[in-house]
Amino acid sequence: CGIVAFLGADDAVPYLVGGLKRLEYRGYDSAGVALMTGVGAAASFEIVKRVGKVANLEAAMPAPNGAPRPTLGIAHTRWATHGPPNDENAHPHVSRNGRIAVVHNGVIENFAALRESLLSKGYALVSQTDTELFAHLLEDVQTKEKLPLDAAVRLALTQVQGAFGIAVLSLDEPEVLIAARRGSPLMMGIRDAQTPGGQAAYFIASDASAVVEHTRHVIYFQDSEMVVIRPGGYEIMTLDNVQLTRSVEQLELSL
Ligand code: GLU
Repeated sequence: CGIVAFLGADDAVPYLVGGLKRLEYRGYDSAGVALMTGVGAAASFEIVKRVGKVANLEAAMPAPNGAPRPTLGIAHTRWATHGPPNDENAHPHVSRNGRIAVVHNGVIENFAALRESLLSKGYALVSQTDTELFAHLLEDVQTKEKLPLDAAVRLALTQVQGAFGIAVLSLDEPEVLIAARRGSPLMMGIRDAQTPGGQAAYFIASDASAVVEHTRHVIYFQDSEMVVIRPGGYEIMTLDNVQLTRSVEQLELSL
């Protein structure tokens, strides 16, 4: 239903939870976040998911404990299509090795065939969602083909039928945020560095309302497009890996 993601230099949590609240008007049954904590080989996911309101999720978020705050994360409000609304079926979903986290809007139509194929490869499923299948498929493609995350996402998506907007994190590339779409809306907000030595911040959202309070500089993605965001900048390409140059638009929208 709703996607929000953030990569920047300051605490990601208020942007993610605040963004989910801005998307609440669209309706949803559960909500969750995956935060990248730690750096390099020590990176790990902190995942919190709750059925019901974003306020439930917010209440379940661990309080800051003096450790550096996560500056990268993905978040989701779910409107269930596969599997009832509960904590397990809420997004983000994690691959078997625990190293890939995914949020997804839309429906994977070849759910049954993908499920059979993954089960036959020994993947056990912890949820009833179509989205979890994509997390395992991505791990399967990445480990078999030894691909960087962006290439693995492109290859895995060639095996997915149906509509999607997705955002993906991997512990193997803990400074990277990837998002892609086909048939579901997705956009990026860019907040330029405002102070000397300041860093830009990047927002991904399924709807501009999750972003407008932070920046009016946006790029709307078209179908079959993907963005790879790193602290130093971003690249946009088609799902066939043709590099694209897209200009940043100025959003005229009242809060
Ligand atoms: N099909 C996915 C699910 O049921 C995503 C639904 C959505 O767009 O929120 O979990």
